[in-house]
Amino acid sequence: MYIPSDIRSKVFERAFHLCEYCLLHQSDLYFPLQIEHIISQKHLTSNELSNLASACYLCNRNKGSDLATVLPPNLDVVRLYRPRTDKWVDHFEISNEGGFVPKNKIAEATIKVLKLNNESRVNDRINLIRKELFPHSNVSKYWNFQAQTIQ
Ligand SMILES: [Zn+2]
Repeated sequence: MYIPSDIRSKVFERAFHLCEYCLLHQSDLYFPLQIEHIISQKHLTSNELSNLASACYLCNRNKGSDLATVLPPNLDVVRLYRPRTDKWVDHFEISNEGGFVPKNKIAEATIKVLKLNNESRVNDRINLIRKELFPHSNVSKYWNFQAQTIQ
C-alpha cells in the first residue's frame, strides 16, 4: 500500500533510523529500512503512525502478516511484540554473545517468528559489538523515547 513520503520520514525519524525489532541502525544495514505494519494490512488497513514501525528487511520479511505464534509445550497462542505499545527493554535483553534473551512469552514468540537469534544475525551483532557499534548510540535515545511515550 502507498505510504506518503512525509509519513515514511516520520516513521524512520521517530525510530532514530533503527529497526524497532532488532535495533540495527540504517548505517549497519545492507538494505534501506522499511515501513512495517505492526498489525498487518491483512488484519487492519491502517496507515496511521500508531500502526507503523521502522523495520529492517529481515525483520519485516520474517514477520510478514503474522500477529502471533504458538509456543511449546502447550502450543499456546502468544502475540508478537508491538513497538508502539510495548517497550523493548521490558521484553528483551542483549547477551554478551550477541543473542537476544527473552524476558517473557511475547519476546519468545517474537524472537521465534522474526528469527532474531538466527546464527547469521547473531554473528552480525557480535561483529558490531566487537567494533563497539552495537547497540548503536541511537538505541538509548530510542529507549528513552519509548519510555516517554508508552505507559
Ligand atoms: Zn530488524
